[in-house]
Amino acid sequence: MRIWTRIRRYTKLPFRVVFSLMLVSWIGVFLLFNYYSQSSTVVDDVVGTALTKNVDPNLYYTRDIRWLPNSRKQSNRTFKVRKKILIVQRHPASERFKVSHVLCKLLDGYRLSYELTRVDDKPFLDIKDALRPDVTVGKYSLLIFVDIKTYLDLKEKTKNTLNSYSRKFNTGILFFTTNYVGYARDFELNVRKPEKEKSPLFVKINSSSVILRVTKDGGQAERPRVPKGIGTRWMYLSYDPARVPYETVAYVLPGLPLAKKRRKRRNPMDPQFDRVTVLLDSGRKDGVKRVFFAGGFPFFVHTMLFLDSLDFLSTKSLTFSLNRYLQVDMDDVFIGSTGLRLRREDVMDLLSVQSSLAEKIPGFRFNLGYSGKGYKRGSPQEDEGDEAILEYAHRFTWFGHLYDHEQAHRFSLKNLIRSMKRNRKFAEDYGIPLNTSYAVAPHHSGVYPVHEDLYTAWNKVDKITVTSTEEYPHLKPAWLRRGFIYRGIRVLPRQTCGLFTSTNFFKQIKGGRKALDRSIHGGELFETLLRNPVMIIMTHMTNYANDRLAQYTITKLVDYVRKWTNVRLTYAPPTKLAEIYFGLFPQDKTPLWRSPCDDHRHLIIWDSDKTCSKLPSFLLVGPPHGGLELLQSLLRLNHDIVQMNNISSKEAQFFSSENYLKGLDWYMDHFAKPSNPNSISYEPSHSYFTSQAAPQRVNALLKSAKIIFVLENPVMIAYAHYKHLLARHKLSQYKFTDIVTSQTNPELLRMRTSILRPGHYAEHLGRWMKYFNPNQMLIIDLNELVSQPVNVMNQLQEFLAIEHPLDYHKHVRYSKDKSAFCEITPSNTTGNCYRYQKTVPDSLDESTIKYLQRYYAIHNKNLMRINQKIQFKLPKWLQDIG
Ligand SMILES: [Zn+2]
Repeated sequence: MRIWTRIRRYTKLPFRVVFSLMLVSWIGVFLLFNYYSQSSTVVDDVVGTALTKNVDPNLYYTRDIRWLPNSRKQSNRTFKVRKKILIVQRHPASERFKVSHVLCKLLDGYRLSYELTRVDDKPFLDIKDALRPDVTVGKYSLLIFVDIKTYLDLKEKTKNTLNSYSRKFNTGILFFTTNYVGYARDFELNVRKPEKEKSPLFVKINSSSVILRVTKDGGQAERPRVPKGIGTRWMYLSYDPARVPYETVAYVLPGLPLAKKRRKRRNPMDPQFDRVTVLLDSGRKDGVKRVFFAGGFPFFVHTMLFLDSLDFLSTKSLTFSLNRYLQVDMDDVFIGSTGLRLRREDVMDLLSVQSSLAEKIPGFRFNLGYSGKGYKRGSPQEDEGDEAILEYAHRFTWFGHLYDHEQAHRFSLKNLIRSMKRNRKFAEDYGIPLNTSYAVAPHHSGVYPVHEDLYTAWNKVDKITVTSTEEYPHLKPAWLRRGFIYRGIRVLPRQTCGLFTSTNFFKQIKGGRKALDRSIHGGELFETLLRNPVMIIMTHMTNYANDRLAQYTITKLVDYVRKWTNVRLTYAPPTKLAEIYFGLFPQDKTPLWRSPCDDHRHLIIWDSDKTCSKLPSFLLVGPPHGGLELLQSLLRLNHDIVQMNNISSKEAQFFSSENYLKGLDWYMDHFAKPSNPNSISYEPSHSYFTSQAAPQRVNALLKSAKIIFVLENPVMIAYAHYKHLLARHKLSQYKFTDIVTSQTNPELLRMRTSILRPGHYAEHLGRWMKYFNPNQMLIIDLNELVSQPVNVMNQLQEFLAIEHPLDYHKHVRYSKDKSAFCEITPSNTTGNCYRYQKTVPDSLDESTIKYLQRYYAIHNKNLMRINQKIQFKLPKWLQDIG
């Protein structure tokens, strides 16, 4: 440290030069060090991310690492890491609303998968398993410590484990200091609070830092005012560069803007080493890469540096694309009250702003949406504005609305088609080039929740293939907005930028111009652009008149992004945007239907003929041949419980099959509108039980539904399934035993899986438990249902909270003649009997049964564990195992 200060003093070199010299020499040392040790040389083989490549998010990221496992011998092995972050926290409750919360929100926005753990939780404890020589896949591409103290308090052995993991898989560790103050011996770092916490702070980026990727040194950034309880406090790190080979990434300048002041002051401690807020240890000391965030998070400079750290520490497995495709929709052209509409000079200004934006974003054009009916309905000056915009119509891109700006969901197909045709005719008459296959629904209505007629009309009249919405899945939170594809129309997420039909003057914005500037200067609007590779912003015609808020906002935003980031702003037509979006996020293609009744906004824009009371209150699920039918026939006795109307007597299989893509209306058509207010409906299904997709989909649509499972001994289920296959596919050449014990024959193995997998109860139930509360789930043992139907049914009704439960004692009794429980008819005779046709395992020998019991032992053991969460009476076949 002293050496450098001296050099500076004697040579009178400006600080930047000294710093660069230092950096160059460090790099030199680093290269030398590397040359001699030959450790951790990394060749990036595959560099891909969700934002840069069209990949399955579950894929591993491979790279070749010549890793030296504690020896000088070189090994050529390929190590992989999952694209997942492990976040280590100490007190989830107290940290939740601070760093962890901010972090999770941020990562959700960027669609990065992560797992939260405490140091005594399994995910953290399991890290050591990855150090076994035979393990070549690391579960995490990065570790984050929410509080550095959690790490400092770990045992030496555990620290060594983490470091070895990092070295083996070439991943890094990221630390937040959160509330820690003091000396961190492990890193030879001092953490302290700023002297004056209230005074303004100016943050500077080290423009030569190796981690800069998204971030660009934009000069000095003033610390924003962060509301209490959100994010971390500001802290400083200090270190001695003569002792530790770190790199300062961001630091706080002393006092007020001080370019001149600094030279005069003889401050022995340089802020670059003394007031560090983001610090990099690139692994020169011990081969582990680390980044430290001292505080002030979130803050846009730190947020960007955080993204850059993810990229750097994960050796690019968490990299973001730098491309940002920007589309600005100017909606409601010709719609607006007098006094708010465009005049000729506003149109000319709009054109000049468009030209200057096109210099920064090649090809940029405003995308104008019009409703013909409002043409020339303003003052004489404004009518000239309308004429001017048509005069220059070819300089913009255009999209259609409805002719009278109607709320789509209120109109039938016939009316929608008529309105679209009129609007199209208007375009032809006035020379508007309808050059995109893009359209927007007026009043946010009809796209989501889906109004089928709107999609039909778009397909028919305008050949629309792309639209956008702010409502999917919900307006808020904005960072979770997504796209989907329905009936061939690609719906893209759209962003608001605070410019609505009601905000046409600075004074109408909450907080005024200052608030708008904050949003642009690293605030919400800036962050939105950072987060969305495809960014469609919605504005309205009236935002471009008078105060010209929209021109101001977009220009300022583009300039600020160019000043502080290396993001490449790009322009592309809507069809291209859709291609890019679904290329980056293929998992978004299939929509996830949510109940319109769970969102107040959605309810308003949903057809008033539709009702959520048509949706089922509970589902009846279980493996095939597991006795669901028996429960159904018992339920039929209570007339308040209505089974869904099957169109073809087969299951709708909505949540588990391609039928899901037919939409919510298709599903709801299976259910009758309840005639009696007390009645509840349900859907029975075999396929939902084992479906991978069903639990999440059911939860999205039927959040408060109850799920009833009926379980039978998995050995019997397997045998029954074999019998079923036998009858259907005539597989008589194979014996049950041959199939289930098969180890090699691929055809037999396929059959074996299909026969045995339904009995992995814990696995299937576990999937449901991810989305439903234990108190929403009931497990019924089939044998108990057979032997004590009255009790089971009474309990079931209680669980379902049926308004008028049926006393099954009075309706079902045991008949000795029929050796079964049977219905008591009104004339006190015996009616239908309730039996479960057990497939008699005639050809099942003792050794096969033993084999299957062994096979299911682990699954059943896990099922016993589930019993601690969802209590159910243990069936006999499960007791035997316990
Ligand atoms: Zn509109």
